[in-house]
Amino acid sequence: MKRQIPEEVERLKGSKVEKSNSEPGTSVFVIWRRRLLRHLSTFQPFNLSACALLFLAACQPPAAPGLSHPDAVPPGLERIDGKAAFKILENHLAAGPRLAGSDAWKKAHEDIAARATALGFQVKTDRWTLPRGRQERAFVNVECLLPGKEPGLIIVGSHYDTKKIASMPKFTGANDGGSSTAALLHLMEVIAADKPKWASRRSLLFTFYDGEEAEVAFTEGEGDGLFGSYRQVRNFRQAGRLAEVKAMINLDMIGDLNLNARLYGHDQLQELVAGCALVNKSEAQFEAAGRDGMTDDHKPWLEAGVPALDIIDLDFGPRNSWWHTEDDTLDKIRPESLASACQVTLRALWSLSHPEYQIRGTPQ
Ligand SMILES: [Zn+2]
Repeated sequence: MKRQIPEEVERLKGSKVEKSNSEPGTSVFVIWRRRLLRHLSTFQPFNLSACALLFLAACQPPAAPGLSHPDAVPPGLERIDGKAAFKILENHLAAGPRLAGSDAWKKAHEDIAARATALGFQVKTDRWTLPRGRQERAFVNVECLLPGKEPGLIIVGSHYDTKKIASMPKFTGANDGGSSTAALLHLMEVIAADKPKWASRRSLLFTFYDGEEAEVAFTEGEGDGLFGSYRQVRNFRQAGRLAEVKAMINLDMIGDLNLNARLYGHDQLQELVAGCALVNKSEAQFEAAGRDGMTDDHKPWLEAGVPALDIIDLDFGPRNSWWHTEDDTLDKIRPESLASACQVTLRALWSLSHPEYQIRGTPQ
């Protein structure tokens, strides 16, 4: 990850206001909603529920009785433990750089599959090869399904591969690829502990992507990088299953000592996750950033017309100077950041998985 260089990130940050102003009403709406949610967070539970219903009536697509919203407490929220997620990350990194074909790469996807199977997820390991230079390169995606009783599927993604950097043989990507992988594995533990409640809703598909990192440099479309997510979208399209996917949420680089995540992608998903962050009292760590401006594993889904969002903090170290360097190590990861990312994501998943939660632009 990713294509943006620090100067580009600064430029994107600078253009954010201009972007929101280009959508009439959006910026006013977002400000109003934020004010309301800040106000709500100080209320007692009874008033909170009443005001949340008002919020829903005004802000959300047609609400139905019992509809989940950012204020609903998802099952398992109290079990989220940043230190537990950190331990998973330590284990994930222990074998070294997860480069294609290496023992560490093999161990990584085998461990993910084993953990998911032990938690009761239905695990599919998708293996394929592509000609890369003079050789065939092997790729492995791991898809972990919690089948729901209701139609529709929510995909949660993270890449687990590490960037190959010839001059940095020790690069293991504690934050870039590691942190989000550990977060997903921890979320799966939390959800598995409350399986009947989660399984009563839409299905959840936790996906660990291979080949997110470009071998040389990212190129648009299916050139270099995002191999795993393009593969998954192609599989769904070929199976005629794109319309099943109601939303896709991708996590990347969410373990920073100073979490400062941006939300890129589908507008309603930005609003939902920003709302979840407010309710979680994590609003300082998550900020809507616009539809475009980030190339990550959510992008192939956006291109396919599926509502998708990337949660990423591409501001890692002073002026992003730890990104894609040997400074991307465990000591730059804060368990509290992992916990915050897990809490906000779990809250969003609880809304998204509700069978009556409508997402604008979902393929019919
Ligand atoms: Zn990267």
